[in-house]
Amino acid sequence: MLAPWLSTRGSAASTGPRFALGVASGQPRPDGMVLWTRLTGEGLADRVAVRWEIAHDEAFARLVAHGVEVAEAAWAHSVHAEPAGLAPERSYWYRFIALGEVSAVGRTRTAPAPDAAATLDLVTASCQRYDAGHYAAWRQVARDDVDLVLFLGDYIYESASPRQALRRHEGGRAATLDQYRARYATYKSDPALQAAHAACPWLLVWDDHEVANDYAGLNGPASDAGFAAQRAAAYQAYWEHQPFQKALRPRGPKMRIVGRCDWGRLARIHLLDDRQYRDPQACSGAHGGSRVLTRTDCAELDDPARSLLGAEQERWLAGGWDLARPWNVVAQQTLMARFAAPGAEGGEPRVWTDGWDGYPAARRRLLGQVAERALGGVVVVGGDVHASYVADLKTDFGDPRGKVVATEFCGTSITSPSLAQARIDAIARFNPHVRHARADRRGYTRLRFGPERMHAELRVVEDVMDPASTVSTAARFAVDAGRPGVLVD
Ligand code: FE
Ligand code: CA
Repeated sequence: MLAPWLSTRGSAASTGPRFALGVASGQPRPDGMVLWTRLTGEGLADRVAVRWEIAHDEAFARLVAHGVEVAEAAWAHSVHAEPAGLAPERSYWYRFIALGEVSAVGRTRTAPAPDAAATLDLVTASCQRYDAGHYAAWRQVARDDVDLVLFLGDYIYESASPRQALRRHEGGRAATLDQYRARYATYKSDPALQAAHAACPWLLVWDDHEVANDYAGLNGPASDAGFAAQRAAAYQAYWEHQPFQKALRPRGPKMRIVGRCDWGRLARIHLLDDRQYRDPQACSGAHGGSRVLTRTDCAELDDPARSLLGAEQERWLAGGWDLARPWNVVAQQTLMARFAAPGAEGGEPRVWTDGWDGYPAARRRLLGQVAERALGGVVVVGGDVHASYVADLKTDFGDPRGKVVATEFCGTSITSPSLAQARIDAIARFNPHVRHARADRRGYTRLRFGPERMHAELRVVEDVMDPASTVSTAARFAVDAGRPGVLVD
């Protein structure tokens, strides 16, 4: 029985569709997941009852669970339903009903039971700048029939659109709650992105552009209300638009996205946050942000006290490596391998201070833990750099014969533009542990984990300006669970 003050009545046609931003699911566990939608249209009451249903079949003939959530105006009428008691490792269909309308149907999946001998077929993706291209990559992901999408940051871009943009960010640069909400609504209006969300559960971490370019902790660009208030608005809009649990609703400028997802006996996925807790970029000056510089330019670079994850998250990661499962997947935001640019005329190499190259002591601590514990199957996945890098990770990148301790697959962007390939080639020659470096193609990465081997496919779109573009495999690699390092497949 619904409380009488909850609005359940049908809407007039003029108020617009109620589920215009689609549906999504995320955070899969062996017995449940989070189901998401957000009500849209005019004239919504402050509190609206939304029924959710989850079923064994697409026709909803065999309902497994249902319930009612209250969509509140204070949280953008978003819905985060959390069915529990489901069976492990199986597909389900879900939908929402409110105000006389029924949402699109989404398909989701529970994780395998902790003791199950599972496989894991996942997609990693990042950087989907809406005004830079179409989402043909997502249309293909929706067809790929994978278990999981790992989205690694830059879901939206806060910036204004250039005049010649393919399709526009409305309203200039986002900095307030209303502006961030409008930006998510623009992105989530895309049918291909909706299809990818409706195809399988997602795990998400954010990078900088969900808030502001190159922000670090509470250091960010000046804004009218102050950066802490801007970050609070951005984090709130992020939670409102993604399938995170209700318990993770942000409080002021804080939201915890750090977490783990175990996949049977096969893999543990560690989800890291390298934005919220980081020290400012080295030698960033009064206005913050990233630079390209040498060690001589900036002694602070090597300060061992500086951290990309923050001390607490470093401890959390150190205490949570899985010593029993063959794979530890580290889902984070940016390129971990050293990618230093050769100096002019044989001079000192230069590094970009926003990525792991800007926090070398923290990187050594992380990879040192992996080496110390002799973890054989650590796979680091990332985004941010709008190029595909496949790399051998070492505790000492300066030693060409140094031991490889983990393997990295940093994916290209869904749409966001990159540097010229010739420039990337010149830097890659200087970093031989980077085994593959392509900046000229947009797409995503598909990783299939078995108990002994992981197969990787770098998937690329033919034409990012064409919403119906074909997608193909540009390169294949493999990794053996007991032996870190890139293999050509
Ligand atoms: Fe990006
Ligand atoms: Ca980024």
